[in-house]
Amino acid sequence: MALLELYSFHSICFFQLVVAPPMGGQLQGKGVDVENYPGLANVTGPEVVAAMREQAASFGAVFECEEVIKIDSTQRPFKVYTNSSVIETHAIIVATGAESNWMNIPGEYEMRGGGVSSCAICDGAAFYQKDVVVIGGGDSAMEEALVLARTSKSVTVIHRRDKFRASNVLALRVMEHPHIKIKWNTVVKKIIGEKVVAEQAEEGDEDDASLDLDQEKKFVTGVVLTNSETGEESTLATSAVFVAIGHTPTTSFMVDVVEFDQEHTGYIKTVETSTKTSLAGIFAAGDVSDAIYRQAVTSAGSGAAAALDAERWLSEEGLGNEQAEFEAELLAELMADGSMDEKAGGGYNAYDDAGGRMTGVKESTRVEF
Ligand code: NAP
Repeated sequence: MALLELYSFHSICFFQLVVAPPMGGQLQGKGVDVENYPGLANVTGPEVVAAMREQAASFGAVFECEEVIKIDSTQRPFKVYTNSSVIETHAIIVATGAESNWMNIPGEYEMRGGGVSSCAICDGAAFYQKDVVVIGGGDSAMEEALVLARTSKSVTVIHRRDKFRASNVLALRVMEHPHIKIKWNTVVKKIIGEKVVAEQAEEGDEDDASLDLDQEKKFVTGVVLTNSETGEESTLATSAVFVAIGHTPTTSFMVDVVEFDQEHTGYIKTVETSTKTSLAGIFAAGDVSDAIYRQAVTSAGSGAAAALDAERWLSEEGLGNEQAEFEAELLAELMADGSMDEKAGGGYNAYDDAGGRMTGVKESTRVEF
């Protein structure tokens, strides 16, 4: 599903945000604490997303839950077509993140909803005290395994190599966990399961159409494995398979709108170290244009950079918000005659330091170091 976070900037603090569900992306699916975000401790991904959302709303962000179908960049302002509306905007920041990859092996698609999943925090509780499997060797796989280890009877991580790609801290926690086993050099060839037709509705219930909906139930029962060193094949019994083999940027709706990175398939190309794409007025932030770092904190950083790039571009194009500019001028006059300085107690103002380039309500914020 194409997700687009779209900010229609009028000034740094007057923007519009459109995002299709699920809001929060990979961070929203993280049921363990976020351990690599400065200043955050003992807080889960969904809690961070909720706090960010609340903060954005307090600055006037408007959230629209719509799916972006296409962007018409042949005219200005751009037209963003969603599943239910058309939005006109002068600037767009694409921050749609990345979607889970799948193995494309027999049984994987067929058993989805019956024990095959890519989200432990969403589906893990359904396998309470059951044996489950996680496929992958990156940070996502480690986190899935750690989440599942809280409720499952056992967790087996299956990795195709003899070394995890994940960060040391997460890999160690997995390797030292008493309920997590690891199968190295092992490839999952097939997911096996059963489809059971539920008992027919009782006599007299024939008119209730809803009874037919869930007649076929699916259950994963195991995985067929091959040892990549010896070629030996085996079967492992399991009630669920969590696939955590990486992500692909959600950028297909940007094909023919902006240029893509030739070296990294699916990633939007940005100009040098900026967030500018090949088309003026469209900016890219986070996993859609970052094939290397892909952390929540680096994505948040590039989101901030994109906001500044977009705001600067709008100012240069003379597309600012008149009301915000009027307020900024008023504020500048108050600052000049010293009355605001007295009130706020003086101190360094980052917005002044930026040469008054950033206009709007936000420059009343005083930053002290
Ligand atoms: P990833 O780092 O690309 O790891 C994908 C893993 O899946 C690799 O171990 C890879 O094996 C394996 N894999 C790929 N295709 C496979 C296939 N067809 N069959 C079997 N195994 C396969 O992806 P990720 O774990 O989703 O992480 C993506 C990015 O997000 C990374 O930069 C990661 O650091 C970041 N992230 C960070 C956190 C955190 O900091 N807490 C949490 C989640 C994700 P090989 O190793 O053999 O290639």
